[in-house]
Amino acid sequence: MTPAPDTLAAARRTATPAMRQYLDAKHAHPDTLLLFRMGDFYELFYEDAVTAARELDLTLTSRSKDFGGREIPMCGVPHHAVDGYLARLVRKGFRVAVCEQVEDPRKTRGLVRREVVRVVSPGTLTDAGYLDSREPAFLMGIVHADRGKVPVFGLAVADLSTGEFRVTEHAGPSGAALIADEIASLRPRELLLPPDLDLAAAIPGFDGSGVRITHAESGTFELGHSERALVEQLGTTSLDGFGLDSDEHGAAVRAAGALVQYLRATQKADLAHLKTLEFRTRADHLLVDAGTVRHLEILEGADGGRSGSLLAEIDDTTTPMGGRLLRAWLQRPLAARDPIRDRLDAVEDLCLQATIRERLRTRLGDIQDLERLIARVALGTAGPRDLVALGQSLAVIPAVRVLVADLRAPLASTLADDLDDLSDVHDRIVSTLSDNPPALVRDGGSIRDGVDEELDDLRGISRDGRHAIAAMEAAERTRTGIPSLRVRFNRVFGYYIEVSKANLHAVPDDYHRKQTVATGERFITPALKEHEQRVLGADERILEREQELFDGLRLAVVAEVARVQRTARAVAGLDVLAALAETAGRHAYVKPVVDDGPALVVADGRHPVVERRVDGFVPNDLQLDATERQMMLLTGPNMGGKSTFLRQSAIIVLMAHAGSFVPAREATIPVIDRVFARIGASDNIVRGQSTFMVEMQETARILHQATSRSLVLLDEIGRGTATFDGLSIAWAVAEHLVTNPRARPKTLFATHYHELTDLADTHEEVVNHHVSAREWRDDIIFLHKVEPGRSDRSYGIHVARLAGLPPSTIARARTILAGLERDELSRDGRPSFSAPSESATAQLGLFREPPAAHSAVAERIREIDLHRTTPLDALAVLADLQRALED
Ligand code: ATP
Repeated sequence: MTPAPDTLAAARRTATPAMRQYLDAKHAHPDTLLLFRMGDFYELFYEDAVTAARELDLTLTSRSKDFGGREIPMCGVPHHAVDGYLARLVRKGFRVAVCEQVEDPRKTRGLVRREVVRVVSPGTLTDAGYLDSREPAFLMGIVHADRGKVPVFGLAVADLSTGEFRVTEHAGPSGAALIADEIASLRPRELLLPPDLDLAAAIPGFDGSGVRITHAESGTFELGHSERALVEQLGTTSLDGFGLDSDEHGAAVRAAGALVQYLRATQKADLAHLKTLEFRTRADHLLVDAGTVRHLEILEGADGGRSGSLLAEIDDTTTPMGGRLLRAWLQRPLAARDPIRDRLDAVEDLCLQATIRERLRTRLGDIQDLERLIARVALGTAGPRDLVALGQSLAVIPAVRVLVADLRAPLASTLADDLDDLSDVHDRIVSTLSDNPPALVRDGGSIRDGVDEELDDLRGISRDGRHAIAAMEAAERTRTGIPSLRVRFNRVFGYYIEVSKANLHAVPDDYHRKQTVATGERFITPALKEHEQRVLGADERILEREQELFDGLRLAVVAEVARVQRTARAVAGLDVLAALAETAGRHAYVKPVVDDGPALVVADGRHPVVERRVDGFVPNDLQLDATERQMMLLTGPNMGGKSTFLRQSAIIVLMAHAGSFVPAREATIPVIDRVFARIGASDNIVRGQSTFMVEMQETARILHQATSRSLVLLDEIGRGTATFDGLSIAWAVAEHLVTNPRARPKTLFATHYHELTDLADTHEEVVNHHVSAREWRDDIIFLHKVEPGRSDRSYGIHVARLAGLPPSTIARARTILAGLERDELSRDGRPSFSAPSESATAQLGLFREPPAAHSAVAERIREIDLHRTTPLDALAVLADLQRALED
């Protein structure tokens, strides 16, 4: 509906000058909804108006006079409420351009100049009211290139709301899978791609649902442009200091530089808070792919929400920055012994020093979201209240520093060193802004008295003028003898004198009548207008001056962004450590020993989430090593606790690597490079893949990527296909994991294929364990205890009965099971009942209806009234039935 380029010229010709401005701005920002400032409103036109009206429930009107009588759709939002509407559109996935009046209409004759001052998109929304304070909001740039013959991806993420900015590269055959993982786990709000990059083609399994994809203008990802933009943004002469070499890491430089260019072009701000770039390499962190994070319910519970997740269970942070950092620690645990130990020592210190911890947590609770506040200041979107919140938060830092000084752990001291009191920034904010300023500077009153002489004078003039007007009211009442005479103000007429109908006869000659209203008439006098001019002139200048002073304050704070950010990061770190100590104390977690040895030993381990949900959780031991206990094969009944044991084992390992104490009596954890979990089944119908296909893809990945330092969990592998296919696959996978000389990961393998337990007889690396259960009468009691040795049964039918399958179905299943158990597999591995012999078929009755005599007998048994049957009668009936069967 917006005029196409060829008709644009025609549209411009017939349009008014303002609409010409609109058409030009829209032409320059074609893929946005353009909010065009006109007076007190932001207007949208053409299909933008139709879309916005639909999405925001606005009334769609039309405007014709600007286009020679042609009607065009239009809708608008009031300027003071624009932030809310804008955020709603962006959250729905739109990009929105804000076209502002960049000249003061009161001081401009003719057409006011208008410019697009920022473009907001899902990846650049920073409005605190619309972001989840405990989650990052990433914009992600991806580039795909070839280095030599090796495919390489560069991936950069920036969180404009906090200033976090980092980049990585993934090369080689597994690169695409790692990129898919990063997308799945970092959940960017927006992907910025080169114009020709089709992610679905470049990354098998890429799922772009729910992510806004923006294709950058050509050239944005070009190496030279990117490097220049990056160097300039980071205020450096070379990228060496960030560990980046544009020859060697061209893909990373291109991705990061593209983000910078995009952010600058859309935000039109200098991005003072985006001054550091972290270059991450694979070895820095324990890799946990997105599927594993999901299977282990680390960040989200089974229903997709936060509840029921490990994060929700252990998150005791008191600041939003701490909340985000803990999430990041769990998502990317450490992969080196010493940094892990540093965190653990600090948590231990805070565990032992309970009083300091308590005081520290109370203080931290008074600190607001420093990272996001300073980001808003840097972007120029902060209001007076944001700065006051920043000042109040900084006021707490000295007390935090004093408390932390009493901690002994080296990491606590390092963080304490990073805490900067920032008293200069704090004092400047507090001495400039009033204690309870309005949300917006233009509402007036945000600057304290005594800050600026001119402002004080202006306020004096305004005050005096108002007093003079008030005094005038009294004087005029006396002069005219009209006691009800009032001096009033409205925006249209300014100050006026109102006289009621009954008193009009007493109005003096020097009053000029301006307006008649129902109750009387309104007048002005030259003296009143003189006062008015002084007051209004002063008020207008007051607002201007307040804005100038506020901008000055903002710039002074922006100059200290790096100090505030460093302090914010230290606060976040302390918050997480204190929270982990708090959780550890509350739930009786212990400090794990983390070393480089081969043994993974957990005594009385528990599942941190399940133990809080069930009564009498049974702790279990785990022991794996590189030789005789490389693989634990876990069998046992359905519902016995196999999955829980697998999950808790991986969670304990992950928690330790994140620097957390663990739910166990004792634990020794070797440093692991990757954790893989294949638990449960999930279809990916959207991508057209079956449960079994997904399962096999995940298994393939494990076999290709696991190393001898990895931890692998496989739960019921091969269950999604025919029994013999599944068993064979499970068998081969298990064998591969213990015999592959290049990679023999520590493995927990839970299965219902009891045949697999034979592997322990032929492979010394394999040990059998089972979760125990007892049969009692016809029931099953789950003991949830992991014990050495194999289990020979799955008790599936018992569990089916517990689940409420009809008794007749259960009875039939039992008969079939008994038959199958007697009719064991033949030597060549084929089930003999698949080609039943006459006798076997007769014996099992598997494929035939039972003979009529059986039904008759069953019928007679059912009819017996047991209350009226003596033992002697019963014997007689039994004899009768036997005869019937023999016949
Ligand atoms: P299936 O083979 O059917 O998948 P499973 O052996 O994997 O079953 P889980 O899903 O781990 O069994 O556990 C079933 C239920 O048993 C859990 O939901 C939990 O309530 C309980 N449970 C598991 N482990 C324990 C334990 N150690 N102590 C107490 N209860 C437990």
